[in-house]
Amino acid sequence: MKDLILASGNTHKAQEFKELFQGILNVHPAPKTLDVDEIGKTFTENAFLKAKAYFDTFGAPSLADDSGLVVNALPDLLGVQSARFAPECQNYEAKCGKVIELLRSKEDRSAYFICVLCFYLSADEIYFFEGRVQGEIGTTLRGEHGFGYDPIFIPERKEHDGMSLAEIPEWKNEFSHRAKASKAALDFFKDSIDKTRKKS
Ligand code: IMP
Repeated sequence: MKDLILASGNTHKAQEFKELFQGILNVHPAPKTLDVDEIGKTFTENAFLKAKAYFDTFGAPSLADDSGLVVNALPDLLGVQSARFAPECQNYEAKCGKVIELLRSKEDRSAYFICVLCFYLSADEIYFFEGRVQGEIGTTLRGEHGFGYDPIFIPERKEHDGMSLAEIPEWKNEFSHRAKASKAALDFFKDSIDKTRKKS
């Protein structure tokens, strides 16, 4: 099984990846969290910057995730800057409240979460995978699970019950932006592992 270090200090992400890649890829926490400047203009650039920094520092294949919330009515906020949105807010509860406040006068509440994964296996083997989940921003914070902007994000689901991502952890594990990007990666790596097995 391939061993990878996770280019992130976010324990929630680490747990999600552990579950998503179980039995196929071993994703370990990095020996130390690095402070990587996320100066890229896109999720792909930032995922690359993080994966390369961990690869270069620890000399081991790495996996980085760059993700964020894109709110269509607030095109200059959030997105690649989601983690740095509203620095005056002390925590995500306050950041979520701020998003709701900014949308108060807007009709369009549509939004999506996006995740780009960068697998930096060596300087010649760098792979990217993307996943998205569409939805809308709710009018209150709902739910106790998940992290970040989960309590205000209502994903598009056939149930149409207005539940936020923070209320439906099992659904999130299966259909989130991170789950979709991870599934694309798993399909790719399973395929390449199968091909290697057939050759030997
Ligand atoms: P990153 O760690 O630099 O990729 O920043 C990601 C930002 O998007 C942080 O503000 C996270 O809280 C937010 N984010 C990413 N994925 C999720 C998720 O699955 N749920 C809630 N917030 C998320």
